[in-house]
Amino acid sequence: MGSVTGSVDLAGCEWLQYDYGAARMARGRPGLFTMWRYRELLPIPDGPVRYPVPIGGTPLLHAPALRQTLGTPYLWIKDETRNPSASNKDRATALVIEDGLRRGVETITTASTGNAAVATAFGAAAAGMRAVIFVSTDCLPEKLALMTQAGAWVFQVREGYAAAVDLSRAAARTFGWLDRNTGANPFTIEAKKTVAFEVWEQLGRRLPDVMIVPVGDGPTLVALDKGFTELVSCGLTTRQPRLIGVQAERCQPLVRAWLDEPTRPAELDPTATIADGIAVLRPAIGDAVLEVVRRDGGAMVSVTDDALLSAVATLAGRAGVGAEPAGAAALAGLEKAIEHDLINRTETIVLLVTGREVKAGQATYDPSRVTVVETLDEVERALTF
Ligand SMILES: *Cc1c(COP(=O)(O)O)cnc(C)c1O
Repeated sequence: MGSVTGSVDLAGCEWLQYDYGAARMARGRPGLFTMWRYRELLPIPDGPVRYPVPIGGTPLLHAPALRQTLGTPYLWIKDETRNPSASNKDRATALVIEDGLRRGVETITTASTGNAAVATAFGAAAAGMRAVIFVSTDCLPEKLALMTQAGAWVFQVREGYAAAVDLSRAAARTFGWLDRNTGANPFTIEAKKTVAFEVWEQLGRRLPDVMIVPVGDGPTLVALDKGFTELVSCGLTTRQPRLIGVQAERCQPLVRAWLDEPTRPAELDPTATIADGIAVLRPAIGDAVLEVVRRDGGAMVSVTDDALLSAVATLAGRAGVGAEPAGAAALAGLEKAIEHDLINRTETIVLLVTGREVKAGQATYDPSRVTVVETLDEVERALTF
């Protein structure tokens, strides 16, 4: 900017002019900040990374306006919506596909509440693999549209997400497909732990006091704990941040288990909350979530759908971040945690914002790629590749 020398007019359009010369142009290759930066702590052999899209290396935002609104001077947002398919699911997808590419696998499968499926559809498309996705019939049509646009084959399962997981895993075994299912493939945890390394580096090789994380099946939170544990194992730090897990009030099996209280039926209805990304009735690694939250001195909290909607609006209006309801759960959880004295406003707090808002206008999916099934036989009969 210091070198602007004037301007010229092009039919009413103003072009700024500079003191031109070759030295003005940027030189050298900028280093790309991606999760592969931590490959010495990832289960992949040496050699070039084959996964063709940069993943991770998402910004840690200092959110000045949001800090002011909340009175939290050391608040940060780890913005996972910046991943290519708009959620933290891209990390797990990339590592699983990287491994599959090295083994010559042609087809990948996963069950999903939506975002893991979109990430798998996009990642497989980029890597030249086939994606076979299993979702509940309740999956948002906007997310189905993203999957079929990327060329994925989608099976809808009426009995919901848990049945979709069973079918996807059975199909992987029967047809020899790569199984990306969370809780089944340990690479999903390995990939998601890189968020902990990034936050530590982005804070100047320091840890926050507390990190707030939406919880569905559990790998996002458990992986953060693993990442922080590995920083200790590497001798880089001696303590770990507290982790606070957030669930939606209408689907909060782990919050009730944490409080050692019985769940009411109204709190176990994944279709009743707008937080589809974390609406999981039987979390795949729920026991591990409770274990690490206890060990780190953290907690589990639930938030209402109204609080989630208000968090979505606040993230947009005070941080410029567009999140889906599940993606904004950490902010809703922060407000609840402050109310319950689980967090002090002057601590260093990191909110993990996990998924971007789904744009309207993407609502039509390709029906020739979507089939409702109940059994593996029906899956096999419907396969046209
Ligand atoms: C999947 C997901 C989560 C939580 O992930 P788990 O690892 O299953 O606990 C949170 N937010 C969004 C938007 C998600 O898609």
